[in-house]
Amino acid sequence: MGETKYIFVTGGVASSLGKGIISSSIGKLLQARGYNVTIQKFDPYINIDPGTLNPYEHGECYVTVDGHEADLDLGHYERFLGIQTTKANNITTGRIYKSVIDKERRGDYLGKTIQVIPHITDEIKRNVKLLGNKYKFDFVITEIGGTVGDIESLPYLESIRQLKWELGQNALCVHLTYVPFLAAAKELKTKPTQHSVKELQSLGVQPDVLVLRTEHDLSMNLRKKVALFCNVEESAVVQSIDASTIYEVPLLMQEQGLDETILRKMGLPIGDKPKLDSWKEFLNRRANATEEVTIALVGKYVELQDAYKSILESLSQASTYNDRKLKIEYVQSEQLTPENVEEKLAHTDGIVICPGFGSRGIEGKFVAAKFAREHNFPTFGICLGMQCIAIEFARNVLGYENANSVEFDEKTKYNVIDIMEEQKAITNMGGTMRLGAFECIVNKNSKAYEAYKQEHIQERHRHRYEFNNDYRKQFEDNGMKCVGINPESDLVEIVEIPTLKWYLGTQFHPEYSSTVLHPHPLFVSFIKAAIDK
Ligand code: GLN
Repeated sequence: MGETKYIFVTGGVASSLGKGIISSSIGKLLQARGYNVTIQKFDPYINIDPGTLNPYEHGECYVTVDGHEADLDLGHYERFLGIQTTKANNITTGRIYKSVIDKERRGDYLGKTIQVIPHITDEIKRNVKLLGNKYKFDFVITEIGGTVGDIESLPYLESIRQLKWELGQNALCVHLTYVPFLAAAKELKTKPTQHSVKELQSLGVQPDVLVLRTEHDLSMNLRKKVALFCNVEESAVVQSIDASTIYEVPLLMQEQGLDETILRKMGLPIGDKPKLDSWKEFLNRRANATEEVTIALVGKYVELQDAYKSILESLSQASTYNDRKLKIEYVQSEQLTPENVEEKLAHTDGIVICPGFGSRGIEGKFVAAKFAREHNFPTFGICLGMQCIAIEFARNVLGYENANSVEFDEKTKYNVIDIMEEQKAITNMGGTMRLGAFECIVNKNSKAYEAYKQEHIQERHRHRYEFNNDYRKQFEDNGMKCVGINPESDLVEIVEIPTLKWYLGTQFHPEYSSTVLHPHPLFVSFIKAAIDK
């Protein structure tokens, strides 16, 4: 296509409006027209990456194939576009500053005073353009975290101002705002949008497209008014109304010609409207599924939807491909006991034991694993969940009293889950886990193989502890098989009990690679087993 085009997505009025979904939807529509698209996220916090963040802060930590701990929006980008993102797709203020300070220490700035403008903004711009220059994408969509008006976002908005000036028609700003409905007055209000655009303009950035989040249909008159007050063309004011699923948003944007407006403004040919057949087929199946499949999610962040975002999306995609509606029951593992486990789990069709760190709620996960094993419930243990499945098996089948992971009991006599050798000397917590995609060989005679239909797989990891190979023989002799092994390190990556319907644990996170058009085979197979139950 020639020069890379840069689209910036900013947000105003409130946070949590769904900039990630809008960015993904724009990306999807451009990709459907044959363009090579990527999306990156700039997070205005000072952490180097979200790897050290508690899920209460920004939800789940997503992991890219190249082992970067990233914001959960990258999960949306991958699920919508079916692309793989990397470390270059998620930058934080901390990383920008660190890079500038490292350069300063090396003497790269030749005695200059280091300032926000131009040094920090140059580093931001370098990171925006890196994807275009190095990887030759046709479109780089850059989502700016936070809300216009935040002190933290200022250097990013200044960088957009400079880039728009430098790149002319090759740069475009999409601003997402919110139009509240005042119930008492029965009126939709555009003033917050006007203020937010003014704020952006005061920083020298004129938005080219406005996307208005709303719970009610916005009239043409209202959109005209917004266009008039904000210096934006009428056709470039679109609404983003609450949808039954986030995967409908690309179609809602297409109906309003958002992709055409973007192409026209960037001087590109419009061409034919993409049909998005397989996407629509997915949505149809989703809408037509009436029967439910009920999955219990056993974890400690049950009040926090975003903590298990990718697992929820993977389960929901897999349910759609099994023509079922997904019903999730959150089960707080801290409150799960042998006394109440029946009441909490017996009525469900399948059980997911969630990943996590630290001992809070851990005993409840063992209780769930035991119940599921003894009652032959389809069960999927992910990362820590796999470790829990193994620990419970050691305690109750192998008879190793108080077997544990050394993460929870350093002195346990039966350390069936142990710290990885390479982790022992590590003292820094940031970015030091076993991270990213590693190879795994799947035993042909296993449930896992039945799902993958492939011997060589690559899956993403994020952990410090591992299955202790000293116990492998005892586990296998007694019915829990190690059916996925890393060929280089010999680490156990998948365990299962073949005599049960579907009782499987993975040390890796399959949820990071399930997408709308390519649901992950393990999730599809797990949901199928849950339905067959
Ligand atoms: N806490 C466990 C470990 O570090 C599991 C991590 C996870 O579930 N992501 O090995």
